[in-house]
Amino acid sequence: MGKTFGKKLYPKENQEELLKLKERIMRKTPRLLPLQLQEFLNLQTSKCPVCPEFCSKSHLEGHGLKVPSYKEVMREIDNKTLEAKKSKLPRNKSLEELGKFVDIYSNRIKDHLNQKQDPQPPG
Ligand SMILES: [Zn+2]
Repeated sequence: MGKTFGKKLYPKENQEELLKLKERIMRKTPRLLPLQLQEFLNLQTSKCPVCPEFCSKSHLEGHGLKVPSYKEVMREIDNKTLEAKKSKLPRNKSLEELGKFVDIYSNRIKDHLNQKQDPQPPG
């Protein structure tokens, strides 16, 4: 195998390179974790007001509510951490932004938890 330096990368390899680069940057950039993340996770262990089940991602989907999985949230947090680093946003400002982002999903679950159970039809 010759040197790969300067070799034109295929899109797939390019993608892998980007992911590797991202991982390297992430190792040097501590992930910013907003406090709101804890609430988001706690909410998913709440009992559904309509069914005898917990408000997990898959359960909420059954009610037509879309919330991201833990992994998806973390991926998004990583992306936003990198963006914040690139734009040199102060740490507290970045955390505030991340908190707002997580709250969007928390509020979606809260709205569901607060909804009144539909009265059961008689019979
Ligand atoms: Zn339910």
